[in-house]
This record gives sequence, structure tokens and C-alpha cells, in this order.
Amino acid sequence: SIKATQVKLVLLGESAVGKSSLVIQFVQQGYVENREPTIGAAFLTKKYQTGEQSIKFEIWDTAGQERFHSLAPMYYRNAQAAIVVYDITKAASLDKAKTWVKELQRQASSDIVIALVGNKLDLVQEDEHERQVLAEDAQAYAEEGNLLFYETSAKTSENVDAVFGAIANQIPAP
Ligand code: GDP
Ligand code: MG
Repeated sequence: SIKATQVKLVLLGESAVGKSSLVIQFVQQGYVENREPTIGAAFLTKKYQTGEQSIKFEIWDTAGQERFHSLAPMYYRNAQAAIVVYDITKAASLDKAKTWVKELQRQASSDIVIALVGNKLDLVQEDEHERQVLAEDAQAYAEEGNLLFYETSAKTSENVDAVFGAIANQIPAP
């Protein structure tokens, strides 16, 4: 069998935007309400097949709290991919996401693949008044910075596989 390409991926973003829920939905196809907050960071792996290429994601799910910020470089330093998450229903979480993107662009590997992800799409689908970040605005920001962009729901799983699939497609074959 062909050896899988290992892809180290890090999740960054404000606390409670749904980073852990996104990873669990991708890795285990499940969702639980009121997940316990991540302390430090959690490590998960997932095999993923895209076309001819077999990928093994090695995922670092970091804690969003400010007191863990100084640990982040340890997780993104050798990462080939990053998912920076904000909550569509919280405008301030996009500002925080933008600071993470800037930090990655300055400090991480120059060829890192970055995906900007607006999570909790289900809340907006239920009630459009919940939306605080327009998709067009986030998309325009993402295009400027050459980032992948998706709106997702870790709850319904909408677009969750699409994010990881798009990242996998940007990873060069060995
Ligand atoms: P993290 O701190 O970024 O890892 O966020 P968590 O994954 O721990 O999620 C924080 C809270 O938001 C939990 O109560 C989750 O159940 C909830 N949550 C996460 N993703 C979604 C989503 O897509 N939709 C909704 N409605 N709630 C979500
Ligand atoms: Mg978490």
C-alpha cells in the first residue's frame, strides 16, 4: 500500500467558536452540546483519501484562552496547514481570527495552507438576525490573504469535510 502523506494541522481561534467540535465532527462524525473546554491542546489523527493521494492529518486542537496564547507557536511552527475559526454570530471572534492569521503569516512556515472558517452556520440558518459577520466580508478578507474560506456547522456537519478536503487538495504530492 502507498504510504500516507503526513499533514500536521493546527486549529486556532477564540475560545468557544467551535474548534474542538469541528475536529470531533471531522474525526469521529459526532457532535455533543456543551463540550468541555480544551485545556492546553488535544491531539487527534485522521486518514483522508483525496484522488490518488492518501493523507494522514495530525491535528493539534489548541485552547483559545489568552493564557495559552504563548504555547501556540509550538503547535503551528512545523504545521503545513492551519484552520483559523471564528463564530459567525460573534463579530469580535473574526477580529481575533485576523490576529491569528497575521501571526501565522509572520511566524509560521511560508507555504502553510490557511483556511478561515466561520462556524455555527446552523444558528444563522435558524435565525438570520443572529448573523454578525457577512459571508461576503469574510470571503473578501480571505481572498486578499490567499486563504481558503468556508462557513461551517460543527453541529449539522455542513461543510466540515469540505474544509479538510480543500486543505488536502492544496498539499503537494510527495
Ligand atoms: P472551542 O473552545 O473553540 O473548542 O469550542 P467548542 O467546540 O468547545 O464549542 C463551544 C460551544 O459552542 C459548545 O457549547 C458547542 O456545543 C458549541 N458549538 C460548537 N460548534 C457549534 C456549531 O456549529 N453550532 C452550534 N449551534 N453550536 C456549536
Ligand atoms: Mg476546544
